[in-house]
Amino acid sequence: MSQQGYVAAPPYSQAQPGMGGYQGGFGSGPAQPLYGHYGGPPQAFTAPPAGMMKSPVSSAAGMPPPPVSSQYNPNVQQNGAHPQRYPAPPAASAAYGQPPQSPYNSMASPGPPAPQQLTNQMSAMNLGSYAPGPMQSPPPPTSSVAQQPFQTPPPPAMGQPQMPPGPQSPHMSQQMSPQMSPPQSPPASMPMAGPPLAGPLMVGSQMAGPPMGGPPMGGPPMAGMGRPFPGPPPPGPGGFQQPSPGAAGPLGYPQQAGQFGGQMAGPQPGMPGAFPGAPASLAGPPQKKLDPDSIPSITQVIEDDQLKKGGQVFSTNIRGQVPPLVTTDFTAQDQGNASPRFMRCTTYSLPCTADLAKQCQVPLASIIKPFASLPKDETPLYVVNHGETGPIRCNRCKAYMCPYMQFIDGGRRYQCGFCNCVSEVPVFYFQHLDHMGRRVDFYERPELSLGSYEFAATLDYCKNNKLPNPPAYIFMIDVSYNNIKSGLVKLICDELKTLLEKLPREEGAESSAIKVGFVTYNKVLHFYNVKSALAQPQMMVVSDTAEMFVPLLDGFLVNYQDSRAVIYNLLDQIPDMFADTNESETVFAPVIQAGVEAFKAAECNGKLFIFHSSMPTAEAPGKLKNRDDKKLVNTEKEKTLFQPQKGVYEQLSKDCVAQGCCVDLFLFPSQYMDMATMADVPSHTGGSVYKYNNFQVETDGEHFLRDLRKDVQKSIGFDAIMRVRTSTGFRATDFFGAIHMNNTTDIEMAAVDCDKAVTVEFKHDDTLSEETGALIQCALLYTTISGQRRLRIHNLSLHCSSQLSELYTRCETDSLINFFAKSAYRAILNQPLKNVREILVNQTAHMLACYRKNCASPSAASQLILPDAMKVFPVYMNSLMKTAPLVGSTELSTDDRAHQRLSVMAMGVEDTQLLLYPRLIPLHTLDVNSEALPAPVRCSEERLTDSGMFLLENGHSMFLWLGQAIPPDLIQSIFNLPSLAHLQGHMPALPELDNPLSKKVRSIINGLLDKRPNSMKLQIVRQRDKPEMLFRQFLVEDKGLHGSASYMDFLCYVHREIRQLLT
Ligand SMILES: [Zn+2]
Repeated sequence: MSQQGYVAAPPYSQAQPGMGGYQGGFGSGPAQPLYGHYGGPPQAFTAPPAGMMKSPVSSAAGMPPPPVSSQYNPNVQQNGAHPQRYPAPPAASAAYGQPPQSPYNSMASPGPPAPQQLTNQMSAMNLGSYAPGPMQSPPPPTSSVAQQPFQTPPPPAMGQPQMPPGPQSPHMSQQMSPQMSPPQSPPASMPMAGPPLAGPLMVGSQMAGPPMGGPPMGGPPMAGMGRPFPGPPPPGPGGFQQPSPGAAGPLGYPQQAGQFGGQMAGPQPGMPGAFPGAPASLAGPPQKKLDPDSIPSITQVIEDDQLKKGGQVFSTNIRGQVPPLVTTDFTAQDQGNASPRFMRCTTYSLPCTADLAKQCQVPLASIIKPFASLPKDETPLYVVNHGETGPIRCNRCKAYMCPYMQFIDGGRRYQCGFCNCVSEVPVFYFQHLDHMGRRVDFYERPELSLGSYEFAATLDYCKNNKLPNPPAYIFMIDVSYNNIKSGLVKLICDELKTLLEKLPREEGAESSAIKVGFVTYNKVLHFYNVKSALAQPQMMVVSDTAEMFVPLLDGFLVNYQDSRAVIYNLLDQIPDMFADTNESETVFAPVIQAGVEAFKAAECNGKLFIFHSSMPTAEAPGKLKNRDDKKLVNTEKEKTLFQPQKGVYEQLSKDCVAQGCCVDLFLFPSQYMDMATMADVPSHTGGSVYKYNNFQVETDGEHFLRDLRKDVQKSIGFDAIMRVRTSTGFRATDFFGAIHMNNTTDIEMAAVDCDKAVTVEFKHDDTLSEETGALIQCALLYTTISGQRRLRIHNLSLHCSSQLSELYTRCETDSLINFFAKSAYRAILNQPLKNVREILVNQTAHMLACYRKNCASPSAASQLILPDAMKVFPVYMNSLMKTAPLVGSTELSTDDRAHQRLSVMAMGVEDTQLLLYPRLIPLHTLDVNSEALPAPVRCSEERLTDSGMFLLENGHSMFLWLGQAIPPDLIQSIFNLPSLAHLQGHMPALPELDNPLSKKVRSIINGLLDKRPNSMKLQIVRQRDKPEMLFRQFLVEDKGLHGSASYMDFLCYVHREIRQLLT
C-alpha cells in the first residue's frame, strides 16, 4: 500500500464506513436523538469557552438558547467579552507561562524519558496452519473491492462467528495457500515474565501470511453480519491454543449474556450469532500452541504497577506525569495538579498539532470524577471564601484563580494561563511577590498552590439570586400488587427506619440538613403529610395523573429528626394499608413529575428514590407499551431498541435538570419494561439505575439493601453545572456521562455523586506549545447537602510534544478504554452494531500501526510491536466488543443491554477497567494469615483448576466457582457440608463459620462489596453445572459466545490489520 491508505485518509474529518468513522461516525455522529445538540458536530461550535454562566447569546450557532442557564444572574454571564477567536498570544511571550524561577518550575516537563526501546521478541505466532475451515459460511464475492484497506476496511464482525478464512472463499484461499504450509515451527518463546517492559513490547509473530494483501480484507461485501471474520486466525486448531482442552471446552461455552443481570438462556442452535464452526474446529487436527503466557497480561501489568508504585506517594507537581494505575494503591498528594482520583487522561502528552492527532487517532480525552471519594489519608478539599466578591476569575475567559495564573507587575496584575489575558488583581487580593516572582502568600492560598479546591459561591451563582434551600430526598414506592406480594414494600419501609438516620451530613454537623418526603403509588399517587405536630400521618390521593400537582406543601418535606415518630408510624402502616391491593397497573412519568413539582414548590433540589416493578401501562402521560422485538437484532433497526421513546420523558429530563431533581431508579422487573425509556430520566440527571430481575426477598433482599444503603449515603452535590476550560490550542468538544447539555459547553447534572464521571474529549483548534504545555480547568458549580453554593475546581496541566512517541509513552490504557466504551455505547444509538465494532477494531489497528510506523525501532514486519503503555489495550478492546450492548444476539435481554449501556456512560476509569477485565482470585491457595489479597489470575478457563476455588467479580456480578475435584475439607470449612455434592440451592451469602478460612474468605468478599460502588449478588457455581455458563462469560480472554474472538485470536487479527496498514 499506499501509506496513503492510512496516513492520508483524514480519519478525523471524514465519515468513512470503516476507518474514518472516528469523528464522522463515532465521536460526534448524528445528533443524539434525545437532544439534537447533545454531541452535535463540533464544527458547529466556534465560540471560545466563555464564562461559566454562559449567556444564551453566546451559545454556539444553531443551538437553542439554554433556558436553564438563564436562571442564573445575567450579570455574571455578561462579564467579559466573548471574542470569537482567541487572540494571538502577547508578543512578550516570555511573560506567559511559568518563568524558570517560578514556583511551578517543578511543573515543567521533566523531559522525555529516554526511549527505552527494550524490545522483547516473544514467540512466533504460527498463523500458517490455518484450519481447513469447513464450517464457515462462504463470504460473498469481494473481487471487485479495490485495494484500499482503509477506505473500506473489513468489518471484523466481532462478536460474530469468526471463522478462519476458508477455502470457500476463492480469493482468500489464493491469498493464503502459499502461507498455509508448512506449518511454522513452534514458538520461540520469549516469555513476558521478568521485569516490566519499559519499552515497546514486541510480540514477534511470524504471522504467516499476508492474507491481508488487499481484497480479502477489504471489501464492504465482507461487512455482513454473521460473516466469517475475514482473515483472522482460526478459532480453534489453527495453531492457537484452545482454553484447556481438558475442561468443558468451547462447546460448553456459555452464552455471552449481559454482564448486568445475567439473564440468559442456554446456548441455542441456529441463533444468528451462533458459532456454528466451534464443533468442527474442535475436531480439527491438533495444532501447535502459542504459549498464552507470552502475550501481554493485564494481571501482570496490574501487579507490576503495584510493585513499582504501590504504597507510595504520588505528588502531582510534575506536568504531564502519568499517574499510577487505578488498580494500584497509592496516596495522592496535591502539589498543583488535580489528583488522578478526580481527573485521568487518555494521554498525558498531547500532540502539538491536529495533524499529529489525526495521524495517530489516539483519542485525547479526560475522565473527570469531580466528586471522587478520597481515602482517609488524603486531605479533603479546602474551601476558599472571598466573601461577597466571590472567586477571582480571568476577565476574558472566566477561568478561576489557579496555579496557572502568572502574577506580574509586582503582583498588581496577573496573566491568565488559559487565554493570556492580563487582569488587575483586586485590591483585597493584592500580595507582594518574592524574589522568585511568587506571591508571598503562595502556600496560604489553596487556589495558588493546589490542583483541587473549592470556592464559596456568591448569590451571583445562585438561581434567582437566592441562596438555595437544603436539598430533599423523596422516597416513592410502587405499591402495586407484585411489590406488596413479594414483600418488597415491607422490606423498603423497614429499612428506611434505620437508613434515614444515616443521611449524608456536613462534616461536623449533628444531623443531616436533607429533608425527606414519602409517596406511594400505583395508578394514582398518595402523598403523605408527616409534619411533626401530627399524631398520625395523613394521606392525600391524587388521581389526576395528567396534571400532576402536589396536594400539600406544609408537612410533605420534613426534617427527619423532627418528624421521626410520624415517619415511623407511616413506614409501619404502608405495607398494611395496601396489603389487600389488587392493583397491578402503574404510572411512572407522573411519579417523576410529582417529584419535580414538590421540589419546585419547596424551592429546593434533591433526589427521587423510585422503587418500581413493572412497565407503566396505566392510562397516563408516559404510558409505555412493549416494543421489544428480537427480530430487530442484527438489523439496521437494532439501534431503536436502545433509543428511548421521545416526548414525555424527554421533556421530563429537561424539567428535572432545570429543577435540580436527580432520579434514582430501583427496578424489580419480571419481564421486559422498556429500560431504554424508563432509565432515560435517571441517565440525564446524574442518577443511577439498579435492576433486580425476578426479585425475591430471601435471595435478593440483602443485595438490594446494600445498594440502597450505599446510594442514600453517598456524597453528592446538587443542581450542578460543570464547565471544562482549556488553554489555547485545544478545547473540549464532546461529553459523555449521566448529563444533560443545552448547549455545547455547559454540562448540567441535576446531581453528581462520588461515583459519577464525565468523559470529555478534546480537539485541537491550533498548535500547542511544548514549552507551555496544555492546561485543563474543570469548574463544577453545585449545591452542597446542607444547601451551600460552591464551586469545585480541578486543574490539570499536560505535557505537549511534537513527537508522537511521547504521546504513546504517556498513554493510559484504562482511560482510553473508558473513552472507547462510552463512545461506542453512544454510537450504537445511531449506527448498526457492526459498524461500531468495525470502527473499534480499525481504530485499534490504526493506533498501533501508527506507533509501529513512527515510534518503534525497525524490526521485521512479522513482529507485533505494541507500545508499552498500551500493550494490554487489545485485551480490553476485545472484551469491550463482547459486552452485551455490542453483541447482536437475540439471546440477550434487551433491557439488560440497555441497562449496561446506560450504566457505563456514567462510569469512571476504575469501573470500566473492572467491568472489562474482572478480577479472578484463587481462594484455594489462600494464606489465612496474610493480609494481602491473593494475586488475581488471568480471566481464562485455563487458569482454573479442577481442585480449585475461585472468586470472580467485575463490580456488578460476583461468583464463587468451585472445581469438581475440590477437596472436601475446603467445602467443609466454607460451607459446613461434607462434599460438593451436598451443596444445593441458592445461598445469598456464605455461612458464618468459626474457622480461619471461612472468616478470611468472607472478609475478602465483604471487603470487595464495601469497595465497589454497587452491591454484587454472590452466585455460587460448580464446575460443569449449568449455571457455570453465567460465570464463563466473564472469562474475557477466552472465545466468547456468538463466536466472539478470544484474546489470542483478536491480537492476531489486529496484527494482520496493522501489517496491512504498514504495507
Ligand atoms: Zn483567561
